[in-house]
Amino acid sequence: MVFCTDCAQQQEDEQKFCRFCGERLPGATLIQQLREESANIKAQKTGEVTQTQQANLATLKAIELARQQGFNGQS
Ligand SMILES: [Zn+2]
Repeated sequence: MVFCTDCAQQQEDEQKFCRFCGERLPGATLIQQLREESANIKAQKTGEVTQTQQANLATLKAIELARQQGFNGQS
């Protein structure tokens, strides 16, 4: 079970794109890439985070939060 990062609608596991807004859905691979990216950023620039990096981290947090909460189709 996956959720759109743009509109937070629930999607079928096998879907690659959101059927509501067309946003590309985050597979496990993408989330892993984002994690590694943020870890690299932290390692390279301790104490200094740009707006783009903050946005990436915020996206990651939102994805994890959505997964934890289950988001039973409520909007
Ligand atoms: Zn969507």
